[in-house]
Amino acid sequence: MKNTEPRPRTIIEPFKIKMVEPLPFLSRSERQQILVEAGYNLFLVEAKSVTFDFLTDSGTSAMSAAQWGAMMIADESYAGSQSFSRFQQTVRDLTGYEFVLPTHQGRAAERLLFGVIVKPGMKIPSNNHFDTTRANIEQSGAEAIDLVIAEGRDPAKQHSFKGNMDLDRLDAFCAKYQSEIPCGMLTITNNTGGGQPVSLENIRGVAKIYKKYGIPFILDACRFAENSYLIKLREQNQGSRTVKDIAQETFSLADGCLMSGKKDGLSNIGGFIALKESQWLPALRASLILTEGFPTYGGLAARDLEALSVGLQEVLEEPYLAYRIAVSSYMAAGLNALGIPTMQPAGGHAVYIDAKAFLTHLPPEHLPGQALVCEMFLAEGIRSCEIGSVMFGKTVNGKFQPAAMELVRLAFPRRVYTQSHFDYILEGMAEIAARKERIRGLKISWEPPFLRHFTSRFEVV
Ligand SMILES: *Cc1c(COP(=O)(O)O)cnc(C)c1O
Repeated sequence: MKNTEPRPRTIIEPFKIKMVEPLPFLSRSERQQILVEAGYNLFLVEAKSVTFDFLTDSGTSAMSAAQWGAMMIADESYAGSQSFSRFQQTVRDLTGYEFVLPTHQGRAAERLLFGVIVKPGMKIPSNNHFDTTRANIEQSGAEAIDLVIAEGRDPAKQHSFKGNMDLDRLDAFCAKYQSEIPCGMLTITNNTGGGQPVSLENIRGVAKIYKKYGIPFILDACRFAENSYLIKLREQNQGSRTVKDIAQETFSLADGCLMSGKKDGLSNIGGFIALKESQWLPALRASLILTEGFPTYGGLAARDLEALSVGLQEVLEEPYLAYRIAVSSYMAAGLNALGIPTMQPAGGHAVYIDAKAFLTHLPPEHLPGQALVCEMFLAEGIRSCEIGSVMFGKTVNGKFQPAAMELVRLAFPRRVYTQSHFDYILEGMAEIAARKERIRGLKISWEPPFLRHFTSRFEVV
């Protein structure tokens, strides 16, 4: 039978380009010299030597003409600026939350909230806490508990919503520790694993449990639009809704949110706390004034509030989200077709290469993730991030202890790179895959006492 289905068309960038920035192109030998000088640590390489920068999707978005235009009409008044009014209106319309406190970025919102509501010895559950969230909870003396479903901890497992909370464990946890839980959280999308989404059904289930135990429900909503779009794509009976409608329902199920505007705010800086009720507000305002700024600017210039306000609206445009989510699924499928395994399925904002499964000739002590990060830089000028034994392994009494997984993360900036960039990168990855046995391992030659991935130096073994 003849196939009469229309051929699916290429998903194109739903924008045209008004302002451009040149890509640096260096030779392999130039990059070799830079890499040696940086001790084989890409955190120590200057951005001007990087052709494709996939270190993070945070604060790296390209802004739109509308955002730049809004910045020009910002009202920089110290108190009661019109930019704040517009920003507050956008957040209220999106979330339904009455009380809006701007902050300079997401972790400032975390520090403020936990500083006000947490007492030492308390516990805060989530699917997975992001690292700054965990650090701020621990800094205030409480414990951060991860209760993601079992599938979310298995990189090879296929599951549409690997960010889901394990509802049975959450219920048991809340029953046991009810009086010690100042708030319950949920990260959407779950950053762990490259932005794995949480289903609407699961968000409803989480809300019900927190409500049953009288625990305020706070969303870590950095990627709310990507989560809402993945619900529309993957969840039964959600396909005909608008993404905005799904996002609004998501927020309506919680009591408030913490937000980094550097992700789905499509901005280079900014964040906020938004809440349904006012019981924490006086203490939050006092702390905000003390450490961030007056409550109508919260550590930001009014022009940043304008950019964030426009970004929060643009991010819900569905042609944008179709293109955005296509990037990570296209790259995962392209890498898999070359025999380069990735965590399944691709998340919203990143792809994780399984370096242990790809570079089978390198044992964990030869740091296969870091070796791949360096090869991708040398060959293609790509900057990626090792999430393996360099980041999570340890040296105990001079002895190497590996991490559970050896991953390399490619996190995609929003609206920055095009389809032809991604095709070019896949061509380069094909060449790397063809000669992968020749990739040499690395070892750490110097390491600091904490957070060694940022500043360690390496040498080839
Ligand atoms: C980035 C991020 C944060 C922290 O936000 P910053 O703006 O980087 O301070 C918190 N939670 C999640 C899930 C994030 O991705």
